[in-house]
Amino acid sequence: MNHDQQEGIKIKEYDRILERVEKPARYIGGELNAVVKPWEQVKVRVALAFPDIYEIGFSHLGLRLLYHLINEQADYLAERVYAPATDMEQELRKAELPLFTLESRRSLAEFDLVGFTLQYELSYTNILNMLNLAGIPLRREERGEGDPLIIGGGPGSYNPEPLADFFDLFLLGEGEEAILEILEKIALGKEKGWSKQDIKQELLKVPGVYIPEYYTVEYTDEGKIAAINPLSPAPPVVRKRVVRDFDRAYLPQKELVPWVEPVHDRAMVELFRGCTRGCRFCQAGMVYRPVRERSPAVLTDYLKKIIPQTGYDEISLTSLSSADYTKIEEVLATLADCFAAQNVRLSLPSLRIDSFSPELAAHFQGERKGGLTFAPEAGTERLRRVINKNLTDEQIMRTTEAAFTAGWQRLKLYFMIGLPTETDEDLQGIVDLARAILSVGRRLHGPKAGRVQVTVSASTFVPKPHTPFQWRPQLSLAETKRRQSFLQERLVGRGLQFSWHDPTLSVMEGVLSRGDRRLGKALAKAWELGCTFDSWPDRFRWDLWQQALSATGLRTEDYLRARSYQEILPWDHLNAGLEKDYLRREDQRAEEEKITLDCRTRKGCTICGVCSHMGAGPRLAGGE
Ligand code: SF4
Repeated sequence: MNHDQQEGIKIKEYDRILERVEKPARYIGGELNAVVKPWEQVKVRVALAFPDIYEIGFSHLGLRLLYHLINEQADYLAERVYAPATDMEQELRKAELPLFTLESRRSLAEFDLVGFTLQYELSYTNILNMLNLAGIPLRREERGEGDPLIIGGGPGSYNPEPLADFFDLFLLGEGEEAILEILEKIALGKEKGWSKQDIKQELLKVPGVYIPEYYTVEYTDEGKIAAINPLSPAPPVVRKRVVRDFDRAYLPQKELVPWVEPVHDRAMVELFRGCTRGCRFCQAGMVYRPVRERSPAVLTDYLKKIIPQTGYDEISLTSLSSADYTKIEEVLATLADCFAAQNVRLSLPSLRIDSFSPELAAHFQGERKGGLTFAPEAGTERLRRVINKNLTDEQIMRTTEAAFTAGWQRLKLYFMIGLPTETDEDLQGIVDLARAILSVGRRLHGPKAGRVQVTVSASTFVPKPHTPFQWRPQLSLAETKRRQSFLQERLVGRGLQFSWHDPTLSVMEGVLSRGDRRLGKALAKAWELGCTFDSWPDRFRWDLWQQALSATGLRTEDYLRARSYQEILPWDHLNAGLEKDYLRREDQRAEEEKITLDCRTRKGCTICGVCSHMGAGPRLAGGE
């Protein structure tokens, strides 16, 4: 039987199992603008993997960018794979079929490179599950010459140490800047018949590439890190990659349109990368520096091309704080003009309280139907100064009042509990603020006061690597529960709602966020015990994770504890461009409740190190 006949049989088997699963369209590919390239005619084949289901993974902009960028090159192809839902996983295992890509229905094992997007620590067991489903040995050292190289990218690669046993390499920074250099090295290696090890040695020369096996870690008797030793020829420190000129950054000529409704079913374009507000808890704000805006012309030209091609009726202008875009009013007005006739709506997914105005919000018809979300983050002005979220109670009240006046009836307020220096007074601040906002809403809505609703959502603060709070302790499980009950008891009554995150998930997120290599064993154990989809509260198994940690001799407390400034951190050899001194200074300023201003303009620069390390500076569409 030839290869094509074998493939034909396999595809028929897949068709059979697809009849038995929920939402088979998650697995069939063939979406509008999907690309199927001839397998034999390219030099390098990449499987882009997202460790969550189709609806979540499809909405991920980074993966879509890389997909089109790679497929636009004659020598390479990229196909997609998302984590199969449980029913699909069972069917695959029953039929002994490997996990396959959407485009050509080939096993991940047949690719040269499998790239995982590391968006969230609690998706790590899904990565192991996907490798296993494809028949790829989990541990790097168990894989042979015929197995693909496994690469990780995205925010998780700024501390990928818990995954170090399973991955061949990680890319720090922006994928579109480096992926083609990586593929070029792999193509060269294949052409010359190099071993995987030779290819890796070559990949070490690509800036931003981190290959964990080239670093050994020593621990003290107390379990702290004694040293991280680079092995020749690896660089002692790996620095992230950034796109310097965002106007020239890659934008696809085509956009995928899904079969199954994803969480964000709309055209998306980034107004800018980076955020320089300097919130001290925010990893994205730190690692995506410096701020780089796209010019209005590039944005509108792109959307004019994409909208007719996809038929989308909504455009999302994404960024870490979209309303900070220098020319936001101009862009919104132009887009409204361009697309009014087609009834295309605009949305800004993240609006800061201090940049909200009814005029700005007026551009987003349709959103009024739903609620409006603001993120004061902390309940008192004092604590907001600690985290560098420079918002007064008066500003919050003014903005929410403006929103009620403009017609919104439901507001959602997003807070974190367990922020450094938080006391019960700060928690009471959340309650008081929510009640004050509710009563303003009621007053302004008069006869419709009964419809006014204020929802408080409280997540638990998780200290993240490469932020000023990377040394701070995380709340224990017991203390998190106590603080949640404090709020639960007080945020009751008509018009008030309280939602909170499962504290056990936050504990595991915290362990993996600041984790070291020893966690690889616990991760594998947790997966063996049956953990997958840990980020889904109804699927998360705290009991199994505890079992996995104790089986490997690790304790959550050791990962949640405070670190001293002198301690070697597991990610000290990975550099997001930020000077450790800057992070330390910011942490001390937090203690002193001092605000640090936005560095969008050179004058506001607080010398975090990024611009000098990256040879890039803030680039604003306004030309500053
Ligand atoms: S070096 Fe200065 S301008 Fe550049 S990101 Fe850091 S603080 Fe901002």
